[in-house]
Amino acid sequence: MTGFSSRHIGTDGAAQWHMLDGLGYDSVDALVKAAVPASIHSTPRSTSDIPEPATEAEALAELRALAGQNRPARAMIGLGYYDTFTPSVIARNVLENPSWYTAYTPYQPEISQGRLEALITFQTMVTDLTGLATANASMLDESTAVAEGMLLARRASKAKTDVFVVDADALPQTKAVLRSRAAAVGVHLVELALADGAELPDELFGVFVQYPGASGRVWDPSAVIDAAHLAGGLAVVAADLLALTLLRPPGSLGADVAVGTTQRFGVPMGFGGPHAGYMAVRQGLERQLPGRLVGVSQDADGHPAYRLALQTREQHIRREKATSNICTAQVLLAVMAAMYAVYHGPEGLRAIASAVSRKTEALAQRLRDYGQNVHHDAFFDTLRVTVPGTARTVIERARSKGYQLFWADEATVGISVDETTTAADLAAVAWAFGAPEADEHGERELFWDGFEPLAKMDAALKRDDDYLTHPVFHTHRSETAMMRYLKQLADRDYALDRGMIPLGSCTMKLNAATEMAAISWPEFADVHPFAPEADVRGYLAMIEQLEIWLAEVTGYDSVSLQPNAGSQGELAGLLAIRGYHDANGDTGRRVCLIPSSAHGTNAASAVLAGFSVVVVACDDEGNVDLGDLRAKIAAHSAELAALMITYPSTHGVYEQDVVAIAQAVHDAGGQVYVDGANLNALLGFARFGDLGGDVSHLNLHKTFAIPHGGGGPGVGPVGAKAHLAPFLPSHPLAQRADHAGGVRFEGGPVSAAPYGSAGILPISWAYVRMMGASGLAEATGAAVLAANHLAARLREHFPVLYTGESGLVAHECILDLRPLREQTGITVDDVAKRLIDYGFHAPTMSFPVAGTLMVEPTESEDLDELERFIEAMIAIKAEAVAVAAGEWPADDNPLVNAPHTAESVVAGEWTHPYSRETAVYPVASLVRSKYWPPVRRIDQAWGDRHLVCACPPVEAFA
Ligand SMILES: *Cc1c(COP(=O)(O)O)cnc(C)c1O
Repeated sequence: MTGFSSRHIGTDGAAQWHMLDGLGYDSVDALVKAAVPASIHSTPRSTSDIPEPATEAEALAELRALAGQNRPARAMIGLGYYDTFTPSVIARNVLENPSWYTAYTPYQPEISQGRLEALITFQTMVTDLTGLATANASMLDESTAVAEGMLLARRASKAKTDVFVVDADALPQTKAVLRSRAAAVGVHLVELALADGAELPDELFGVFVQYPGASGRVWDPSAVIDAAHLAGGLAVVAADLLALTLLRPPGSLGADVAVGTTQRFGVPMGFGGPHAGYMAVRQGLERQLPGRLVGVSQDADGHPAYRLALQTREQHIRREKATSNICTAQVLLAVMAAMYAVYHGPEGLRAIASAVSRKTEALAQRLRDYGQNVHHDAFFDTLRVTVPGTARTVIERARSKGYQLFWADEATVGISVDETTTAADLAAVAWAFGAPEADEHGERELFWDGFEPLAKMDAALKRDDDYLTHPVFHTHRSETAMMRYLKQLADRDYALDRGMIPLGSCTMKLNAATEMAAISWPEFADVHPFAPEADVRGYLAMIEQLEIWLAEVTGYDSVSLQPNAGSQGELAGLLAIRGYHDANGDTGRRVCLIPSSAHGTNAASAVLAGFSVVVVACDDEGNVDLGDLRAKIAAHSAELAALMITYPSTHGVYEQDVVAIAQAVHDAGGQVYVDGANLNALLGFARFGDLGGDVSHLNLHKTFAIPHGGGGPGVGPVGAKAHLAPFLPSHPLAQRADHAGGVRFEGGPVSAAPYGSAGILPISWAYVRMMGASGLAEATGAAVLAANHLAARLREHFPVLYTGESGLVAHECILDLRPLREQTGITVDDVAKRLIDYGFHAPTMSFPVAGTLMVEPTESEDLDELERFIEAMIAIKAEAVAVAAGEWPADDNPLVNAPHTAESVVAGEWTHPYSRETAVYPVASLVRSKYWPPVRRIDQAWGDRHLVCACPPVEAFA
């Protein structure tokens, strides 16, 4: 190993040799080939589209060249994406700070208090601005949030109808996403010009209003909302959060659900994402919320503490009954948006919004002065201008000066103003419409003086209440204070910058600094997702390369990068299967077989694709029960749409029979969906396409080095064989013709942006570019080796639940802690919390089997860290044995009291039967470097009984 792969892979030759020796293999290759069934080994290819590995310097230079092919422009296209100033203190201390971006979803709340506080601040910001009771954290983007709002309305409404009314002035990408999501689950969409007074139908389960409209128009939807309520429906309002600092909030207009994006709160456009969407609901609907909800509870000492609340904590347990399939969300971006509000406070946000509004008023005036027809009088930041037959000409004139405007139709141009727009920008745009150029002095006069925000807005639509009154939005105003607040929060969390996070199924590998570098470059960060093709050539070239590389390593013919999480890739893949069957006239094929061990998103996605889920049993070895599979296939053969299978399985083993399983499904006319989240166990050794898969999603935020961000962002590309490729997601505003529908990909969109979270694709591009095909295979080998080393070393202390026929595991192993509980009374929870005292993030707990820990070390950890973990687990086992031996009482020992805070060992008199050293320094190395959890064990149930999902008052922490 040389070059970047030797930096990415934690174990060197000597360490690997040591582990191999223990396992009885003489090479990594031999180990993996023994673990992976021979029937699926891929044959070496003579040619590869993946170039030889680049050095870090070379990769950066190539990224610079790609960035150079994007033409920087001032984007004034709007439609939910706006240029914004990311406060440098937030860029440096959050976006570019591994303490924030390498953390995992806060399932272990005691070591996640920092990001949970940031997320509850996000929720508070959203509830305050929308005027609703409860907000989640977060949605994947605005358009999918509207789709989730539609589904929520259907669940909550008592109306017996499939009709959902859509505002004609909704964002075009939202309409497109709604069309594909509605069709899959039998919702009948009715589009109406609501702002023009169109009457609602008598029967509907919900209505959707865009506020302000895509055209910029602001109108009072309360009469429409009242009418929807009378018909038994719910009202979903998509609202711009910045506008809501000046406009009456959806809650006070009667909305049941508010959705939208928080992008313009300091998150770069990134050619479409990632950004945090949001959803807020009125009281009574909180149990219907999709995605994650952070709430307040208390720890063992009665101190307030945050954790994921209600059903959102463990979506996967609800499977097909889950409120949605969202798993990975947009945590890092939600944190950024929340901190933007913390940094600016309500006055700052109001000032930004007022300036945006004033600039828009001034531009409208200037355009009217020069004879232009500006559509509406009441607007916030967006204008529509009628230019019969010359829209293209005007747009080209603006583009020649470096401005991107929106082509609405041949006669209409759209312009959106944002925080960054200057007087010179406004003058240049007005010039594109025929106004004379103004000099600098003139610009100031024309564009700054004398304009009122919301000048012609109905007073009833102006906001007059207070918001963001919580002290968090008032106390971190100086940069010093802000920097320290961000540091304080980060210090409460355990992320990869402290130690390993051996979470099975999550692949918490290195997110290399070089991989991260390009995402903040303006040529990638400040690009609008609907910018003209000629301005985004670098992005399109990168996307095409990545598609080709991913197709090669998976054995598929086409790949779409649009899905912005694994769950969305699943949905896209299942919709492709559905589209394929329908095109063949097989419209009755609606049954999806899913093994009982599957990740919860599988079943939830199948439901969203309009399938009914039939569960297939697993046998004692953790494999799909072939007998049961054949029986279920026989019982449903005419309706069989697909089997969804994870490979290697969620039990961490390579199933021998996968080829036979795929064959049985194909023989019955079904399609095989291979969940590719575990690709880190296979990459370079076998390909889904070769083992019988028709379609798969990958998780770039697992296998391909995108950081987890504390629970997002992610990218979940979907790859498919040629026969399914035409049904992969398209997008009406895609720059590439083959992605815009009708040419190659024709499925409906699953994301708001054509290329989803394109802004983080440079990370995976750099990873593949620097690893090369050889490095990717080395990574797989090192990951499988590390997992088997752990399994072998820990086996005598904790049974390894499943192994393959060779006695080996794949890239993760399940340690069975149920015997320990029987013998000692110590639970898997106790062990997970005690690991915190030892300076570790617990492995995945009770998934896919209750009472177990699933350990995935990944290739990035070195031998010392693996040994530190092994020794911690062995020491914890010994502690449990001491409890069983009566050395410590069952209800007062270092395990049940874990984790121990600093306060808990210094405050008052020490009365426990074990020493304070045992409590917090169980191994000597901790004395000099110790992660101190800020809270003790959190009472989950207490918080669900006393549901609070907004920032608690400061006194609560006194
Ligand atoms: C992580 C994972 C998913 C879901 O991916 P998200 O990006 O979190 O939506 C699906 N299946 C398996 C097996 C996974 O491990």
